[in-house]
Amino acid sequence: MARRECPFVRLTVCLGLLLPGGCGGAPAAKANAVTGDGPAVHYSFVLDAELRTLSATVCPRDLRLARLRMTVPELLERVRRPRILRADGDVPLSFEEDVVPIASATEGVCIGYDVDLGPPGEGFWITRGEAHVLAAPDVWLLAPEPRPEGTRFTASFKLPPSVRAALPWLDDPRGYRIPTSAFTMRSAGAFGQFERETRSVGGAELDIVALGGGFGERAPLVAKWMQTSASALTQLHDGFPVPRVMAMLLPHPGSEVGFGMALRGGGPTVMIMVGSSVTPEALGEDWVGVHELFHLSAPRFLPSDAWLSEGLATYYTDILRARAGLMDERSAWDDLVDGFRRGSRRGTGRTLRQESIDMHETHAYQRVYWAGAALSLMADVELRSRGVEGGLDGPLRELARCCARSEEAWSAEQFAKFVDEKTGQSVVRPLFERYVDRAEFPDIAEVLAALGVKGAGREMTLAAEAPRAGVRSAMMAPRAGGTKP
Ligand SMILES: [Zn+2]
Repeated sequence: MARRECPFVRLTVCLGLLLPGGCGGAPAAKANAVTGDGPAVHYSFVLDAELRTLSATVCPRDLRLARLRMTVPELLERVRRPRILRADGDVPLSFEEDVVPIASATEGVCIGYDVDLGPPGEGFWITRGEAHVLAAPDVWLLAPEPRPEGTRFTASFKLPPSVRAALPWLDDPRGYRIPTSAFTMRSAGAFGQFERETRSVGGAELDIVALGGGFGERAPLVAKWMQTSASALTQLHDGFPVPRVMAMLLPHPGSEVGFGMALRGGGPTVMIMVGSSVTPEALGEDWVGVHELFHLSAPRFLPSDAWLSEGLATYYTDILRARAGLMDERSAWDDLVDGFRRGSRRGTGRTLRQESIDMHETHAYQRVYWAGAALSLMADVELRSRGVEGGLDGPLRELARCCARSEEAWSAEQFAKFVDEKTGQSVVRPLFERYVDRAEFPDIAEVLAALGVKGAGREMTLAAEAPRAGVRSAMMAPRAGGTKP
């Protein structure tokens, strides 16, 4: 998530998101996609004209469903009338806690249920706009169990005229293919009328969806900003790190880029609040786009290791923006130094690990994000100083290739082991061990001095004669093969 500067404001703005998915284009229902070999489950959805009730039919094939599970139990009351669909009359089913058990005698039959999208606002799961409803699949896609290896999950929608679906799922002529991550990780989706545009970035498809009436005459600027932000990732990776990403943009009052988040369920997605009167200057200075997209290039991490996922994203946001020419080298260093200063002053006295676990209660985001960024910088500089070309870049590229879309949550220990093995060095593991269970902010002063980064703000200088001045320049130099806007 993007919370480096003004987390509270951004959090309060972030009500209700649900992400859109997919696209579709045509509102007509697609053919039932349960064809072919092997076990399969097909979902048919019908949305009413008011965008208030989504009716689902779930049909398994070559598979006995034991239960359907609501993965957001706090919204259970929105799911109504689970039932077995029979030609001679429906048979009611009922929830036991957050699951609907399905008796073995009902093998092979289809199950129906309705989801109430009507009431406004439930955190970021459901929000209604004038011409759309932001409704995360987590709310309306009950997860089938069991899900044997190789089972194919598909979906089709019957939507009112001019209403489209925005979902991160892959869409082909037979319908949507639902990745299993849609059942295990949070995702985004929306239904309604909205502007949509696909752009190409580093070999990937960037699907830009603007909800809430879009950005009017600013739309091309906003789309260009999103594309530029995505291009910055090519300053680290060989092309864009995932083949397809949905960028769901939520206009909100104001002229700034606001809160953002990265989601993985059903396909890589970023969701970002953008001021409906956003200025070219605000888009030019924005870091949220790069930050959220960076998250999608790494696996997800355990909540106790949020300092690492947010630290890497925070550190690389400045590095990549400098490499891409979106900010100059001095401004990037100034931003890093300013962040380290804020991070070192804030916090609750907890260890970094505990601060990460508790940060949504304590709001010690600055501490967590910037301590993680400091450790990322220290690891990067140490690796480069030992002759590892590109420092952390190489291991992060490999990590993106193997594991960016893994459903498994990584630990900081796994990450440290991965980097140290790939580089043949013993750098990251001892560094993390030194700081993760301490309350003190990482001691960054010595590293900055060696790099020749002195002072802050207008007084900042970058000393050419510093012992690691060469490393400093290399860190922010444009990458061969990277795309510059
Ligand atoms: Zn983040």
